[in-house]
Amino acid sequence: MLLRHTTDKIIDREALTINPAKTCQPIGAMYAALGIHGCLPHSHGSQGCCSYHRTALTRHYKEPVMASTSSFTEGSSVFGGQANLLQAVETIFAVYNPDIIAVHTTCLSETIGDDVNQIAQKARDDGKVPAGKYLIHCNTPSYVGSHVTGYANMVTSMVKHFSARSATRKNQVNLITGWVEPSDMREIKRLATEMGVKIVMFPDTSDVLDTPMTGKHEFYPKGGVTIPELISTGDSKSTIGLGPFCTEDAAVLLDNKCKVKFDMLELPIGLKATDNFITSLSRAAGVQVPESITAERGRLIDMVTDMHKYLYGKRVALYGDPDTLVPLTEFLVTLDMKPVYIVSGTPGKKFEASLTKVLSKKVPEAKFKNGERADMYLLHQWIKNEPVDLIIGNSYGKYISRDEDIPLVRVGFPITDRVGHSYFPIVGYNGAMNLVTKMLNMILDKEDRVCPEEKVELTM
Ligand code: SF4
Repeated sequence: MLLRHTTDKIIDREALTINPAKTCQPIGAMYAALGIHGCLPHSHGSQGCCSYHRTALTRHYKEPVMASTSSFTEGSSVFGGQANLLQAVETIFAVYNPDIIAVHTTCLSETIGDDVNQIAQKARDDGKVPAGKYLIHCNTPSYVGSHVTGYANMVTSMVKHFSARSATRKNQVNLITGWVEPSDMREIKRLATEMGVKIVMFPDTSDVLDTPMTGKHEFYPKGGVTIPELISTGDSKSTIGLGPFCTEDAAVLLDNKCKVKFDMLELPIGLKATDNFITSLSRAAGVQVPESITAERGRLIDMVTDMHKYLYGKRVALYGDPDTLVPLTEFLVTLDMKPVYIVSGTPGKKFEASLTKVLSKKVPEAKFKNGERADMYLLHQWIKNEPVDLIIGNSYGKYISRDEDIPLVRVGFPITDRVGHSYFPIVGYNGAMNLVTKMLNMILDKEDRVCPEEKVELTM
């Protein structure tokens, strides 16, 4: 009984969040920045924040995460961090030689009111940014929003600082990816290549946070979107945003700035969301869907048809990030499962509207909530009142899983106690097969463990 203080009596809380289903803004900004080739993320605040953000990413991706910090002391906390940031920019370019420094703020620098826009401009004006190098920034006060907001802010900053329109349009489509694993980013690129579509995908953390072991440490791994590619996004034919919470602001800004129209989709998790992505990509690029992708879809349908009887009616509780939860919930509904409880610590009205659309007809009894107090404690209380067959979310659900003896399928961020998430995708048709496999095996493992001896079956 690790969570022995969770009661089944639900009281409306007004001011207390217990075990939030989110983490802090700069982590998202740091992850997004790592999706630019040759980028060193920079945390404008105290060393403790930067250490925490790097640790959170390293624990999840099992890779070293490089980032620098303005190292606020008592003095900078009182008088402002301008001197620290200007010195940091000079030192970083001289010692670590990145192509770009991506600065994000922290609670401390936001609270004391540092104007990072002005400081960055001063750094450029004072010649601290060498020719051909770049300095970008975004604001990530962590007392609002979540890591998802921080990711969105850094992605929007990429458009703000780089996207430019020239006289010539390019035959390419922008893909702005929401927060997914490096493996998912690789899979999205594979699908585009399979369709013969030239894309510029940003951010792109594949080959940055899932690099092969070569025996040689690369401070700036080969992956990531390049600066010329980011600049060229203003000349693309159109944009597809994958995940409205993470990408809609950037897509809107790109449209306003460079007149590049966009299609806003959910992340391609599950059958319908992947269908929408493939259709949108095919329409944007004016290409047919190849036989190979139709075959991938067919294999998913075959697997779902074969295994439907084991999944049918299973009650599921989910938590995590809205861009993952909405298409995942839709996929569960497609499988005739029952996603009955869903929470996300990330605020935003789109969450409720999207889930209402997905759930109102098929699972009208479902409860969902996001923002403050939509926490793991509430999810646990809902489960205590009426249990579920499966939990889906990050590693923090393991305590509920253990206490209630409910299998946990690990999806989302952070996953600190299992492996595989950054290598095996959950997007696309192949990713959906991966998800079905994970869920089904968990359900059957428990069935084999708890059913009466005379019911143990060797063959499904
Ligand atoms: S102080 Fe703010 S930015 Fe720093 S780790 Fe805590 S929540 Fe994150």
